[in-house]
Amino acid sequence: MRCIAGICEVLPVRRPKNLKAAKARAWRAVSAYIRQKYAEDGLAYCITCDARMRWQDLHCGHYQHGLTYAQGDDGFHLLEENLHPQCSGCNTFRGGMLDKYTLYMLDHYGREMIEELQSLRHKPLKMKIDDFWRIEQRYARQDD
Ligand SMILES: [Zn+2]
Repeated sequence: MRCIAGICEVLPVRRPKNLKAAKARAWRAVSAYIRQKYAEDGLAYCITCDARMRWQDLHCGHYQHGLTYAQGDDGFHLLEENLHPQCSGCNTFRGGMLDKYTLYMLDHYGREMIEELQSLRHKPLKMKIDDFWRIEQRYARQDD
């Protein structure tokens, strides 16, 4: 059994057939894991506006955009420190609320982590289906 985003599947999980599917599935697993990591009794806070809601209704917001997941990139640096729950308003309509996100990062990780994340933006990865497949398996297992 495997559970992603609260949906449990009894069917065996097959290796993805193409890179696009592999990347999307890996991201789904990581996103669900991150949102649940910050949840208590099924509820988590948006780190930039403090809205409290079901983890399933939150987004997994990036601090450094394009670092962890971006359309068109061949891979992503998987750093949990770059990912936190955000409401759809902050993540999408208010562009990630970078000013408040930066303060959160400073309070929780310090300047060195911010600089490390910024430096990784300029180191693109070439990832293959199996790289994403490993990420998906690792993070989907943590949901169980
Ligand atoms: Zn918010």
